[in-house]
Amino acid sequence: MTIQTRIAALPVSEATRAFLSRKHSLLIGAQDVGTRSGSEIPVHDPASGAVIAAVPAGSKVEIDAAVAAARAALEGSWSKHRPADRERLLLKLADAVEADGQLLAEVETANNGQSIGIAQALEVGASAEHLRYMAGWATKIYGQTLDVSIPIPPGTRYRAMTRKEPVGVVGAIVPWNFPLLMAVWKIAPALAAGCTVVLKPAEETPLTALRLGQLIREVGFPEGVVNVVTGYGHEAGAALCSHPGVDKVAFTGSTEVGKLIGHAAIDNMTRFSLELGGKSPMVMFDDMNPELFGLAANLGVYFNQGQVCTCGSRVYIQKSIFDKVVESFVGVANGLKIGSGFDPANQINPLVSAKQQSRVLSLIERGTTEGATIAAGGTSAGDAGYFVKPTVIVGARKTNTLVREEIFGPVVTLLPFTDMADAIAQANDTEYGLSASVWSRDIDRCFTFADAVKAGTVWVNTHNVVDPNMPFGGYKQSGLGREHGAVAVENYLETKAICMAL
Ligand code: NAD
Repeated sequence: MTIQTRIAALPVSEATRAFLSRKHSLLIGAQDVGTRSGSEIPVHDPASGAVIAAVPAGSKVEIDAAVAAARAALEGSWSKHRPADRERLLLKLADAVEADGQLLAEVETANNGQSIGIAQALEVGASAEHLRYMAGWATKIYGQTLDVSIPIPPGTRYRAMTRKEPVGVVGAIVPWNFPLLMAVWKIAPALAAGCTVVLKPAEETPLTALRLGQLIREVGFPEGVVNVVTGYGHEAGAALCSHPGVDKVAFTGSTEVGKLIGHAAIDNMTRFSLELGGKSPMVMFDDMNPELFGLAANLGVYFNQGQVCTCGSRVYIQKSIFDKVVESFVGVANGLKIGSGFDPANQINPLVSAKQQSRVLSLIERGTTEGATIAAGGTSAGDAGYFVKPTVIVGARKTNTLVREEIFGPVVTLLPFTDMADAIAQANDTEYGLSASVWSRDIDRCFTFADAVKAGTVWVNTHNVVDPNMPFGGYKQSGLGREHGAVAVENYLETKAICMAL
């Protein structure tokens, strides 16, 4: 079957079909270009495994060209844009993302596999809101005036001030789980701060980044302000983060790759921020509202097939309610409808790739070999595509792989605890520290836990709620720096002190 026949079989609009069918190019400066080598990366539909597109496999040559284009824009026309111009352009881009919402959501579902509902609400809706939020910061960047206390020579008076300047050319490297949204989380604050960007999307999910790059051009950003280079991590990604012309690397992805990026960046003293993996605990006390068991499983664990860095993959349950929670989670897991993301009635969609599917299944197998028991799911589903059944694990020891390693799939391990001290100790017994949630009607319990857990975000009686105004990032091995809120804009600024003798 040809790519065109496979695209024709997708339940998408004509505009989406036309976008998928086009010859995809890198967006560098004002040019749409292929690669010098001509090599390409096949793009799969995770619901069927079929190849639905191919994108250029950019490498060092193309990264060099993109960084040069970003530098020229930074020092050229972009630097002449006032903060209010940047704000207006970001607002126009938010409108353009919304106006293009059907295409963007359909492309994301075809490429990532996720539910069309999630693609509409998060990839499109939350991206537009994020752009608007960050647009507002463009006009609210300011330094301070400072008093100086060491007069040299004696008696001299000084007036000092700080000035915030864009850090420069940003290399943004993003993962596949929410491809468009993760790209926007980097691009929006970088542009608000006055930086220019080279974006490298994940090789599995490059398509919405290319569409976003087109929209960025269409709404009037000058050429070279945002460049999109598709390619493999070990080629294009590695070339970008070690490039001497890049002033800052903004990365979201695995802890393993994050460390490589940090090492590469520091050689050039390139600034870097890392949003990495997690193994987030959900802690359920015995006075938890039982009506929230279902929400905890659906939103906290199985949302986006568990391909969420904050997935609540370790659930600690106070002993007296343990059996009730297990029963509820098993009921949820066995009741979820599995199928293509294009049918909004399907609640579990395919994982992003065959590689991710086999990784999740092999982790389940390792966990059971180490003594854990499968209470629901545990296997693949369907004849084609990369589906894994929603899975519930019980009886795991603290050392079990399923308790320790990030899975990034629809798998939860349920574990008992005795009291607050035990809950805190078990929740913190991990190398990660991205997020946690606590479930109880007792506010004192909630805040005792929230204060003690080592995690960048703590939710109370909910999980996985993220907002542009709430700082987001990890303790420990879950990363360095924060995205969202005012601190995210700081990621893209340098501080200059100016001291004047009066
Ligand atoms: P990954 O680390 O394998 O890849 C992420 C990106 O890095 C991709 O674009 C990839 O091409 C690139 N890359 C890979 N090797 C590289 C190298 N040597 N040099 C430079 N770039 C390289 O992660 P993934 O599998 O795409 O995504 C899943 C991971 O992302 C999970 O660990 C998840 O927790 C994490 N994640 C974290 C957050 C967060 O905000 N903390 C959000 C989403 C996902």
